[in-house]
Amino acid sequence: MVESQFNLLHQNSNIESKIVVSLERISQAFKVLLWSESKENSLSPIQTQILIFLLFHSPEKGKVSYLANEFNLTKATISDTIKTLESKELIRKVFEEKDARSYTIELTESGKKTAELSASFAKVIQNPIDELPEIEKEKLLENLLKIIYDLNQKGIITIQRMCFNCQYYQIKEDNHYCNLLNKTIVSKELRVDCPEHNLIEE
Ligand code: SF4
Repeated sequence: MVESQFNLLHQNSNIESKIVVSLERISQAFKVLLWSESKENSLSPIQTQILIFLLFHSPEKGKVSYLANEFNLTKATISDTIKTLESKELIRKVFEEKDARSYTIELTESGKKTAELSASFAKVIQNPIDELPEIEKEKLLENLLKIIYDLNQKGIITIQRMCFNCQYYQIKEDNHYCNLLNKTIVSKELRVDCPEHNLIEE
C-alpha cells in the first residue's frame, strides 16, 4: 500500500495522515475565503494579504524583500503587486532620504479602509475554535506551533516571528519562558506573530 496521506486505504487507518489531510482542508478554506473577500474588492488574494499585512505590522517590514520572504514569492511578483496597488491608490511608496532607490510601502487612507474591512475574512474559521474548551485550544495552539516551527526549520516556510525561534525564548524548569517579558509563558500566551520577536542567529 502506498503510504500517501491521500491514499484512503492508508489514510483511514492512520491518524497522522488524517491530521495532515485535515490541515489541507483548512488551508483550502483559507484560500476560498481569501478569494471571495478579494473578489468583493476587485483585488487578487496577494493584494489583499499585503494590505492586511501592512495594516498590522511595523513600517520597516513594508519592503519588497521582506514581503517576498513573508509570502514566499519572488521580488518581481511583489514589485508587480505593489505597482498595481499603487495604481489603485491603496498604497504609497516612501523613499529613503539616503538612497532614492530604496523605499518602504505604506497604506493610503483608502488602503487602510480596505484592509480593515478585509481583515476579518478568516473569522468563520475561528467560530468552531471559539467553541472548544480552553485546554483543547491551548493544546491545539502549542501543537500547531510545533508543526510550523518544524516546517520553518526545514526551510519549507520562511519568516516566522514565533516564540520557538526567538532569541528571548527558552525552556525554564519545563516551562516556556520569555526573557524579554521576564516571565513564564503558559501555552495560550505563546505567540505566532510577535512584534518583539528577535530571530535566533544561526
Ligand atoms: S519576545 Fe515574543 S516571540 Fe520572543 S519569546 Fe517573547 S513573546 Fe515569544
